[in-house]
Amino acid sequence: MSDSNDYALRAVGLRATFDRTDAVTDLSLDVRTGELLAILGPSGCGKTTSLRLIAGFETPSAGSLEIAGQLVAGPNGFVPPDRRGVGMVFQDYALFPHMTVRQNVEYGLRVAADRRRLADDALAMTGLAQLGDRPVHALSGGEQQRVALARAIAPRPRLLLLDEPFSNLDLALREQVRHELQQIVRETGITTVLVTHDQEEALSIADRVAFMARGRLVQVGTPEDVYLRPATIEVAEFIGDANLLYRPVDAGSVVTPLGRFPLAGAATAAEAAVVIRPEDLEVHAVSTDQVRDADPADPLHAAIATVVHREYYGHDQVLQVRLADDTLVRVRLGSRDKFTPGCLVAVTLRQPPLVLPRT
Ligand code: ATP
Repeated sequence: MSDSNDYALRAVGLRATFDRTDAVTDLSLDVRTGELLAILGPSGCGKTTSLRLIAGFETPSAGSLEIAGQLVAGPNGFVPPDRRGVGMVFQDYALFPHMTVRQNVEYGLRVAADRRRLADDALAMTGLAQLGDRPVHALSGGEQQRVALARAIAPRPRLLLLDEPFSNLDLALREQVRHELQQIVRETGITTVLVTHDQEEALSIADRVAFMARGRLVQVGTPEDVYLRPATIEVAEFIGDANLLYRPVDAGSVVTPLGRFPLAGAATAAEAAVVIRPEDLEVHAVSTDQVRDADPADPLHAAIATVVHREYYGHDQVLQVRLADDTLVRVRLGSRDKFTPGCLVAVTLRQPPLVLPRT
């Protein structure tokens, strides 16, 4: 059985209200000690406000919050940000440009007796030991990002909060820096909550992903959970590429040219979406003779499609194909086979798809 020491963060029903509108309606979330959790969601869904509630920059209008077992916000009290033991990296890093790297890192350690040692540790951890005397304005974007991280982890916080920490970096650097961040978090064991609208970022570095929409968490799970078993159509649509085939529900299942599929779980709905990841489809070339001779009762017959468009990426390719009922679907396949527009193909599924109710 777990007790509250297993959790660095426990939020129950947190709400943030601005001008009588809720930016965060009901944030209920447990983050285990040492875990890296990513809050993922579209712009304006309440991610930054959630982080600010946790840091103490916003006062919740309802709910309660515990950090490392200590109640820091609730009906009976509020602990200010500087006494929460929380480190934060902001989107723009908020560094002092004319101070050196070391001065920036030591800034938050003013009252610590061993500030020099704590700063040295943080600089070493983030690979900045050689750059301590350099003014921050003379650093690259990736190095500045590391200074912001060093400053946040130097006081050994109980919780590290990162708001879109990679958004100012170009794509190649972003991949490298997020891998470094993951290593640092693992080595220090600091519990981390990261906010991002980049699904690839969330899936590739987080232990768990919390998907947020309209001020609420919709699904919290491992990267595999949210990608392979999305709880709602919205999650399936936002995380990764998905073909969504909307169909009426008849006797608990839906019919498509690719087959009849049952609705997931015990759900009931008038309409549902068949969720098909492009990489879960396979195509095989067929000739016009094979199509003419095929038995219409054969399920393969129904799955004959025409290639409409091809995007070649090198490491893979995506075909857009038109199914027998005119539905367009995307198919992701290896880079070797060449299917040109107009080509006839048989489309098959690698495994039964998820069918989610439209609510
Ligand atoms: P983005 O990814 O674009 O940064 P987000 O998911 O972080 O978005 P928030 O910044 O938390 O979203 O904003 C959520 C909602 O609350 C938005 O509609 C925003 O306009 C509103 N909001 C945030 N802060 C305030 C404020 N101080 N006063 C009024 N409204 C606010």
